[in-house]
Amino acid sequence: MSVLPLPLLPDNASLGAGGRLFIGGCDTLELAQEFGTPLFVYDEAHLRERCRQARTAFAGSVAYAAKAFLCLAMVRLAHEEGLHLDVATGGELYVARAAGMPGHRLVMNGNNKSAAELSDAVDAGVGRIVVDSFDELDRLDALHQATGARPRVLLRITPGVEVHTHEYVTTGVDDTKFGFTASSGMADAAINRCRRSGSVELMGLHAHIGSQVFELGPFRQAVEVIAGFAQPYGLPELSLGGGLGVAYVEGESAPSIAEWAAAIDEACAVAGFTAPVSVEPGRALVASSAITLYRVGTIKDLPGIRTYVSVDGGMSDNPRPVLYGSGYETFLPRAVDRDRDRAVRVVGKHCESGDLLVRDGWVPGDIKVDDILATPVTGAYGHSMGSNYNKVPRPAVVFVRDGEARLVIRRETHEDLIRNDL
Ligand code: PLP
Repeated sequence: MSVLPLPLLPDNASLGAGGRLFIGGCDTLELAQEFGTPLFVYDEAHLRERCRQARTAFAGSVAYAAKAFLCLAMVRLAHEEGLHLDVATGGELYVARAAGMPGHRLVMNGNNKSAAELSDAVDAGVGRIVVDSFDELDRLDALHQATGARPRVLLRITPGVEVHTHEYVTTGVDDTKFGFTASSGMADAAINRCRRSGSVELMGLHAHIGSQVFELGPFRQAVEVIAGFAQPYGLPELSLGGGLGVAYVEGESAPSIAEWAAAIDEACAVAGFTAPVSVEPGRALVASSAITLYRVGTIKDLPGIRTYVSVDGGMSDNPRPVLYGSGYETFLPRAVDRDRDRAVRVVGKHCESGDLLVRDGWVPGDIKVDDILATPVTGAYGHSMGSNYNKVPRPAVVFVRDGEARLVIRRETHEDLIRNDL
């Protein structure tokens, strides 16, 4: 195997003497020493640049999908960069509000919003609620009767578009828990109900076809279906959700944010849909901005079988390999430009044989216990999907920029693990 493809590293990665990795001007080995491991290291300038690219590319609003990576610092960054925020639960709404995101810049998604979540969303003055079901419309009727609230809503439509991604992150097909099916008359029924309703103000339609999508064709098809649906009703707004994929491993390539926007614009023009389209990207804004640093604890060589490299994290800080079979690269930040000629399986410290981070990885042959090992492109759906399995404390997160490292999420302590126990 060759050296790590450098485009998989954050924008502001650079190599020092001996191929030692710096991000945002900070020495990653010193970061591991100072903040401990596992450690998520985010390149702040990279994050801001992706936000700016998205804002420039789309005429409509860009709501960062908070589920990809959420903390107070990330909300503030998105706010400073002029983004809106897509929240999918009352908890995400709470974090957004705690960070000072104005209510009108929030979009509330979710297929099973409780009455309390809807009420919190209305109290926060969210800009749009994306309604997902008739049961939710019943709850909004009840809320209207109780409080007089009449929130502005979009209806989530499932356009029947297939994408080539993992089944668990496919959401645009008919057989899904999300939204109102376009092909069955369900979506028409929901639109008609909203138009007659005094409880909601119907502003437009929403579709999210799936996540980690590499092809632009399905986005074009979704525009075609949804714009076709919206036009007879004169609905002015369209949100196309998120879903743009990113490259995780050597050989993968994904369209840029600008190419994604251009494909959507083109499809709107073809469909004769003139209103600005909004989007909700998550992964495309944050995934490649971060790497995770681990410390190697054991190396088990099984001649003729494989070498297991165990690190001090695992499925509790990055469940994607276990959930979706996702692939990652791995490398040693002390020697990024060194040939990776030793095949290894990078595994975590959890009591599961399936606890793996990199199924088929390559590292330099002189890897040893106590080395810092890294996985790139871990900025999305890693920390946010993490858990405390085996009572492993959640890792710390630092933002690095111009040679400075800022702790934005402190490492959990053992005391945190019993905080809620009575
Ligand atoms: N919008 C909605 C409604 C979603 O469900 C998701 C992801 O699940 C997103 C946006 C963000 O998707 P991605 O991170 O793939 O851009």
